[in-house]
Amino acid sequence: MTGNLPAEILVVGGGTAGWMAAAALARAVGRQVRVRLVESSTLGTVGVGEATIPAIRDFNRLLGLDEADFLTHTQGTCKLGIEFRDWRRPGHAYFHPFGVYGDRLDANYTHQYWRRLRQHGEGGELADYSLCTQMARLGRYMAPVADPRHLLSVVGAAYHFDAALYAQYLRTYAERLGVVRLDRNIVDVALRGEDGFIDAVIAEGGERLSADFFIDCTGFAGLLIEKALKAGYEEWTHWLPCDRAWAVPSASDGRIVPFTRSTARDAGWQWCIPLRHRVGNGYVFSSNHLGEEAARQTLLSSLDGAALAAPKLLRFTTGRRRRAWVKNCLSLGLASGFLEPLESTSIHLIQTGITRLLDFFPGKRIEPVEVAEYNALSQAEYEAVRDFLILHYHVTERRGSPLWDDCRTMAIPDSLQQRIDLFRQRGRICTRGRALFSDTSWLSVLLGQGVMPEAYDPLVDLHALEAIRERMGTMRSRLRQAAEAMPTHEAYLASARVA
Ligand SMILES: Cc1cc2nc3c(=O)[nH]c(=O)nc-3n(C[C@H](O)[C@H](O)[C@H](O)COP(=O)(O)OP(=O)(O)OC[C@H]3O[C@@H](n4cnc5c(N)ncnc54)[C@H](O)[C@@H]3O)c2cc1C
Repeated sequence: MTGNLPAEILVVGGGTAGWMAAAALARAVGRQVRVRLVESSTLGTVGVGEATIPAIRDFNRLLGLDEADFLTHTQGTCKLGIEFRDWRRPGHAYFHPFGVYGDRLDANYTHQYWRRLRQHGEGGELADYSLCTQMARLGRYMAPVADPRHLLSVVGAAYHFDAALYAQYLRTYAERLGVVRLDRNIVDVALRGEDGFIDAVIAEGGERLSADFFIDCTGFAGLLIEKALKAGYEEWTHWLPCDRAWAVPSASDGRIVPFTRSTARDAGWQWCIPLRHRVGNGYVFSSNHLGEEAARQTLLSSLDGAALAAPKLLRFTTGRRRRAWVKNCLSLGLASGFLEPLESTSIHLIQTGITRLLDFFPGKRIEPVEVAEYNALSQAEYEAVRDFLILHYHVTERRGSPLWDDCRTMAIPDSLQQRIDLFRQRGRICTRGRALFSDTSWLSVLLGQGVMPEAYDPLVDLHALEAIRERMGTMRSRLRQAAEAMPTHEAYLASARVA
């Protein structure tokens, strides 16, 4: 009963992208399509990519993973959002929470009531109305609940995990479902004469690995999609100039905060990702503004714990593959582009790429119209992420260091300018292309970086000020009390038998 199905899919590359693709394919098509994965143990993987956004929970659900088992095997922790330090200006901090503001899932109006209170010098900080932020401040954690009647339905949560352990975990999963792994160094790609489709990849020694469909997960190398099929790369370095990162693990002091920390530095920013067995750190910087050695020293001198290994340098060019899918080859992960890790979007883009692949699953014949649709959706998604990332760099009060001066004064995409203008007026969030980042995300970063709406939605005036005051005051205390009653993040991990 394999009628229109391709007989064989070959995933090339065994990093996070490769194993996510193999696991999801195995789950979706079972053994009806032969899935093989070839990777090179001598070349290894990029070895970073440890923070995610809430949609990762959907991926885990798709695979049918048990949370406790997943967290145990990946040394994982929970993530309620990102703390941004010094981004708006040195000494300032704000939190980008997941979930929603307010105490109801449909309460996407909370910031409008808050804005009206602010007009009267009341209302405190918007962060006071975010359960995730309250939980993060107190180091507390409980998992989100889907039932909209439950207060925990306003919580959004993702994970941090060890990238190498994650790939290993997915490998075990995929192999159990029949995926065959090959350890080979691929040295060439053979194209069919008649149509330029990929016929086979060639391993060292001349072995040909053929398939009907290929998934290029070879990382920055882009061995199939770029070197063989010349898909093209659209650079965005003029908007996102960071092009290097030093990454280093450090010792944990035992406290595991349920969020990622991002600290702005003169030539970029530094991440801090708490795992159970260690802390992941990295300095993402622009090599036009700082030398590699100076960046390494900055990172090493600002760790909270002792470095556990020598720092590793990664070089990248922000941008996207012009065509993520060409002929019988789809690229995923770093092979399809890289923006930068500021909002932990790369693993998510792998996930949505896989979901789209399943939406447009190739039959024996590849339909150009489906390929075009996939590529258009992929482009729109990359552009939405790009705009969100640029916002962090562009709307800032930081002065006096060349990187930030450049970013603050640069021309930005019209699509982003429109979002900023719309928000500045009456606090409205542009709904176009918002699938990836919720209203909460845009709202948090716009406010956090210093864009305060000049007015509020006129519909807010349907309610008396006193009623708003009371409703918001009750909400604030309810959220605070709920957070205080929760277990610590460490206790949650222990109770879920993941400690
Ligand atoms: C500094 C930095 C920080 C990041 N932080 C985050 C984050 O916090 N969150 C997030 O979501 N993402 C993050 N990312 C992105 C994330 O690391 C990647 O999206 C993810 O790891 C997927 O990588 P990959 O599988 O595409 O590539 P890789 O991990 O590089 O894997 C490539 C695979 O291809 C194989 N391969 C390559 N060439 C050949 C060949 N010739 N023959 C055989 N096999 C070959 C390799 O052996 C390897 O198995 C970060 C990236 C960087 C650079």
